[in-house]
Amino acid sequence: MISSEQERLLKELVKVFLEENKKLNLSAMRDEESIWIGSVLDSLALLDYYKSLSAFSPALPAGRFQHSAFLDVGTGGGFPLLPLSICLPDAKICGMDSTQKKLDAIRRMADALHLEHVSLISGRAEELGHDKRYRDQFDIVTARALAPLNTLIEFCAPFVKPGGHLVAWKSMKIETELKESLLARAELRCHLVDSYKYVLPEGWGERQLLIFEKTGPTPAKYPRDIGVPKKTPLV
Ligand code: SAH
Repeated sequence: MISSEQERLLKELVKVFLEENKKLNLSAMRDEESIWIGSVLDSLALLDYYKSLSAFSPALPAGRFQHSAFLDVGTGGGFPLLPLSICLPDAKICGMDSTQKKLDAIRRMADALHLEHVSLISGRAEELGHDKRYRDQFDIVTARALAPLNTLIEFCAPFVKPGGHLVAWKSMKIETELKESLLARAELRCHLVDSYKYVLPEGWGERQLLIFEKTGPTPAKYPRDIGVPKKTPLV
């Protein structure tokens, strides 16, 4: 459950985010309610999902998720990275993005909220996915609004420990993206183990988390060179 202190920090996050958003275009949403529902509550769907599982569910990551190593790929303005880091003080939380200015804004927000356990990695997923410091290292890799599923899987799966999870936030065209990711899932050893539907309040509608388990090591040829996973997705 979220403590009253965590709830205070989540509300504070909305304020510091809106301040940063005036300087830098982090989000098209520019009012407190939209950021709260569309970004903060949407990010926290992952915690609701894990809390909904029984202790013996095969969909739970190895060990307890509260103590897991998380990586948020294409974290942008810090979603789901920052809400998760507020609510998971004992986890190891990393964000990755190719835009340094966005990471600088996240660092300022994390400092303002005293989130000392957040670390940030600057660069392209296609390159960092071959770096031994990050490849196969994370229990849970998250991605929201990063790319269509086939590209997203090639960007993200290399970072997941075998046996760990990749979680994709999706709202539209889910069936199509699932169909068009069959080859990417087979090549990158990502097995769909669960999906979690949730409804955001105030008419924001239904969304889904897709949860994949990485069943084996990523073949050495993935991810392909910068730009290729997006331009020529595995289909
Ligand atoms: N996850 C955030 C931001 C989504 S926008 C949210 O939900 O609000 C997508 C982000 O992914 C952008 O900030 C962009 O810089 C980053 N990105 C896109 N392609 C990338 C790549 N190949 N490697 C690393 N970051 C990438």
